[in-house]
Amino acid sequence: MIMDEALPKSVYRQTPLKERKNNSLTLLVPVYNEEQSIKPFLSATLPVLDKLTDLSDVQIMFINDGSVDGTVKEVIAAIAEDPRISLLNLARNFGKEAAMSAGLDICDSDAVIIMDVDLQDPPELIEKFYVLWREGYDVVFGERAERKTDDWLKRQTAKWFYKTFNKLSPTKIPHNAGDYRLLDRRVVTALNTIQERNRFMKGLFSWVGFSAIGVAYERAARAQGETKFRFKGLWRFALDGIFGFSTVPLRLSVYMGLLMALMALGYAIFLFVRTLVMGIDLPGYASLMVVVLTIGAVQLFSIGIMGEYISRLTSEAKQRPLYIVEGHYKHNDRT
Ligand code: UDP
Ligand code: MG
Repeated sequence: MIMDEALPKSVYRQTPLKERKNNSLTLLVPVYNEEQSIKPFLSATLPVLDKLTDLSDVQIMFINDGSVDGTVKEVIAAIAEDPRISLLNLARNFGKEAAMSAGLDICDSDAVIIMDVDLQDPPELIEKFYVLWREGYDVVFGERAERKTDDWLKRQTAKWFYKTFNKLSPTKIPHNAGDYRLLDRRVVTALNTIQERNRFMKGLFSWVGFSAIGVAYERAARAQGETKFRFKGLWRFALDGIFGFSTVPLRLSVYMGLLMALMALGYAIFLFVRTLVMGIDLPGYASLMVVVLTIGAVQLFSIGIMGEYISRLTSEAKQRPLYIVEGHYKHNDRT
């Protein structure tokens, strides 16, 4: 990290990207069917924001990701009460990754904090994030110190996933970092230049680089409602991460092919020698079956891997927008 104070007097940065005199902050909060969570979230978060008195401006932007319950009503009621709150309403459910991208595209503050509405991301951390940002860090992310509230299976699968991901991908992501993080404007600008449709935000956050620091916290249980990510969603999420950031699986089929070829060669030599020594024998049904089945399995597996990449190519080629905005709702006092 190069901070301006650390530079010798005779050196200056030609592109002074951060002018932190106007230090405005936006909390981006994606919500999907969270009608019970809005009020508790605001009453826990607003007092923390009140403490950050040297901010020039602070906003909470809810991104409604196509909720079908009373979420919009709750948020609109909150906006009527407080000019700091606004609502970006998406036309349908596009998923949390797209909702976050929508928020990052539209907000124009100097720093952004992405936060879940269910109070699993403790609001007290906002202050710490803010202090570290003022010290010069461009990314401040929350690190889940303990995952006591997740069951054993979720913890294990998460661990395996991060291990596999970091082995396969040249972009490394920190273990146990969620989406809860502060991003400086220049990181947001960099993120907004990424045009990928299959968005694995945790990977993209690392991919853009800049100076990052983690703050450990204990992840609480969900305050209201239940998780929107069941096993199927997490599986898709993991595939997006790995196939979006690594081409190692493509190479895997080459290695498997080589291995199979070697084994086949060995077996062929064995058969040749045996025929020479013991003469021709016809029974060989079992070995034939094994070979046919193995090769078939390896071929299908390789085609499947290619399919994963092709399906991603297809959706990139279509160039559809990531999300559609229905409207942006603000308090009358704001322009
Ligand atoms: N969320 C969203 N769109 C979705 C699913 C979830 O905007 O399609 C939001 C949700 O309202 C919450 C956050 O993403 O604010 C995290 O969701 P959740 O708590 O269900 O995930 P978990 O904490 O279990 O990983
Ligand atoms: Mg949650």
